[in-house]
Amino acid sequence: HADLAMYQAKESGRNTVRFFNPQMHESIVKRVALEKDLRTGLERQQLFLLYQAQVNTHGHILGAEALVRWNHPRHGLVSPNEFIPLAEDSGLILPLGQWVLHAACEQLARWAQEPTHAHLTLAVNVSGRQLRQPDFVQQVLDTLKKTGAPPQLLKLELTESLLLDNPQDAITKMMALKKHGVGFSLDDFGTGYSSLAYLRRLPLSQLKIDGSFVRDLVSEPRAVAIVRTIVTLADSLGLQVIAEGVETQEQRESLAHNGCHTYQGYLFSRPGTVQELEIMPQPRLPT
Ligand code: C2E
Ligand code: MG
Ligand code: MG
Ligand code: MG
Repeated sequence: HADLAMYQAKESGRNTVRFFNPQMHESIVKRVALEKDLRTGLERQQLFLLYQAQVNTHGHILGAEALVRWNHPRHGLVSPNEFIPLAEDSGLILPLGQWVLHAACEQLARWAQEPTHAHLTLAVNVSGRQLRQPDFVQQVLDTLKKTGAPPQLLKLELTESLLLDNPQDAITKMMALKKHGVGFSLDDFGTGYSSLAYLRRLPLSQLKIDGSFVRDLVSEPRAVAIVRTIVTLADSLGLQVIAEGVETQEQRESLAHNGCHTYQGYLFSRPGTVQELEIMPQPRLPT
């Protein structure tokens, strides 16, 4: 316990005096314990993927986003909002991210072999620390090759803050993967700090409108203005646009009215199993 307090005090910088209340102490202890559990959880296959549909205006499925879940032996399901930051701090995000990518590509390869699902794309979240690895590009290419997943159906989701970290490095890696057909979506778009100059340089294929704007669409004219601006921006940069967190029919209509025709959200499907996803309505295949 004393070690932890010391560690925290050091972390908070020199010349800073920090006091610890029992709650803070408890939360640090919990964090350390959870991190340890995550390490074993990864080895013991307590992680799994759920899939959330991405649909067109007819509600027909175009693809999915893979969302990782952790089934903790004592705490039950732990949210990625809780354990992804932990994994990032501890470096566990590297093996975890590799596992996610591999599992997602295996699924993509399975779909690619079934005529009825061969068109489905799969989006995978990538964290900053993963992208910064010098061999990130090679890891993705190896995984595609090993699993037999078609690169054109893989979409990597990145966030603005992650890209701002070292834009040139990110751009170089994205371009290398884009050459092989891999697409990139800018996740939670509108909540970060990207300048328009960056957006122009990034080899993206899609902007993903953050759920916070979608949530306020019906009540706030300003949210509508932002959505409209993002759609226009996407159009003029030649990018696709998708809205996340679509929960109501009103939101869907407002999005459609403002030019956004691809959606993800509870209105269409909750993150679920492959089986749940596979029974969703499909776009009519060209005859
Ligand atoms: P995200 O990438 O922005 O994913 C969207 C989140 O919104 C997911 O939460 C999803 O379940 C939730 N969501 C979907 N539709 C709705 C809706 O209609 N309403 C509301 N309120 N929420 C909706 P989830 O699965 O808990 O994931 C949270 C975050 O954790 C993700 O946000 C992503 O940043 C991160 N994450 C998840 N899986 C991975 C992964 O494999 N690797 C990495 N690095 N991060 C991941
Ligand atoms: Mg995402
Ligand atoms: Mg998102
Ligand atoms: Mg989000």
